[in-house]
Amino acid sequence: MAIVTMDKIVSLCKRRGYIFQSSEIYGKLNACYDYGPLGVELKKNIKEVWWQAMVYEHDNIVGLDAAILMHPRVWEASGHVEGFHDPLVDCKQCKNRFREDEIAPEKLAIKQCPACGTKGSLTDARQFNLMFKTHMGAVEENASVIYLRPETAQGIYVNYKNVMDSSRLKIPFGIAQIGKAFRNEITPGNFIFRTREFEQMEMQFFVKPGADDAYFEEWKQKRIDFYERMGIKKNKLRFHQHGSNELAHYAKAAFDIEYEFPIGWKELEGVHNRTDFDLSRHQEYSGKDLTYFDDESRERFLPYIIETSAGVDRTLLTCLVDAYEEEELEKDTRIVLHLDPKLAPIKAAILPLVNRDGMPDIAMAIYHDTKKYMNTFYDQGGSIGRRYRRQDEAGTPYGITVDSQTLEDGTVTVRDRDTLEQIRISKDMVLNFLKDKLTQ
Ligand code: ATP
Repeated sequence: MAIVTMDKIVSLCKRRGYIFQSSEIYGKLNACYDYGPLGVELKKNIKEVWWQAMVYEHDNIVGLDAAILMHPRVWEASGHVEGFHDPLVDCKQCKNRFREDEIAPEKLAIKQCPACGTKGSLTDARQFNLMFKTHMGAVEENASVIYLRPETAQGIYVNYKNVMDSSRLKIPFGIAQIGKAFRNEITPGNFIFRTREFEQMEMQFFVKPGADDAYFEEWKQKRIDFYERMGIKKNKLRFHQHGSNELAHYAKAAFDIEYEFPIGWKELEGVHNRTDFDLSRHQEYSGKDLTYFDDESRERFLPYIIETSAGVDRTLLTCLVDAYEEEELEKDTRIVLHLDPKLAPIKAAILPLVNRDGMPDIAMAIYHDTKKYMNTFYDQGGSIGRRYRRQDEAGTPYGITVDSQTLEDGTVTVRDRDTLEQIRISKDMVLNFLKDKLTQ
């Protein structure tokens, strides 16, 4: 079977309108990407599936949409101003920059640059803060410095009392949020795997201290199951436990859910037991009481937090990589994205076999009937074979073709993207057929 490479994914994304480089006509903005017509649909579908699994399927999880800009003290309390650094080294020879922790120890020992190979060319590491700074208001003075949030989690922590009181929630409960985050990464790359502007889907689960270990295990399992539910291959997913040297200052335990990308096994999502670190810091820095009073045990305490933190863009890349296949047919190769129908940007392509005998009108009517309910697509350009291939690459699960038999008995052909099987159904049943398939 042909190997999936990142280059193949990048070129399919551009060709089919999934993802474009940001500001391409100006020579691009590095490590930033724009989602095209298909990309925006896939992204929206991923977020919906996540929201469904987290908020709608739990009676004790609610949503939040906090502002990207927050009070600068938030980032002092969270530890980001002081500690959200990566060790940066420069090569004096080729001027490239690297993260010290990504250089092989034997090269680091002789200060050999990974790009140009010159020995003794690397500078000592200096700490580089990953937060983007900007100024609030008209005066660019220190007092007005604010940051673009590097994670969405803090918006949840500072709102936990507001949400709890207004929703009358009792522990254990969770708050879910999807939103943009920004990090001035030293070594972005591998397409949308590591970018400087990205989106996160985070859920923070508030529990009684002592109950944290059990909830941590529960969430680990639920989160890996989630990817399988999205149709991701089981053998491409695994856990990676953070050893004591990797564990963040706030975490008691941490597991990454990893996926085997073309660039190797890499983190897709983090599941962390953050203890009461965050709430105790915000309590200290804000001077506000953030304790929880437990009616049953008559105890007052700071809840522990179990965090599940996933990247939208990384999940999207995972879906594309996992779904990509080059299928050897008799005469040529078929490139196909086997996306789960729930995630597919276009649910069905409505195609007149030829542009005469009234076929386009019938196809157009089916298109209008279905488009109100789901993203269908009408295409009459080129041979039917080429049109099917374009849809295979786009990941469209069904092709609905109006042909000469339609004129006789009112049935259309339904072509299945994965099995290539063709069946006939009444043209009046197309909407019901698709609705059925999408809720399976
Ligand atoms: P790394 O060590 O790779 O920099 P991290 O451990 O700091 O990542 P987290 O802070 O745990 O990452 O972020 C949670 C999730 O957010 C990650 O699992 C990933 O899916 C996503 N994410 C983090 N940074 C980026 C980025 N620069 N680009 C795209 N997604 C990101």
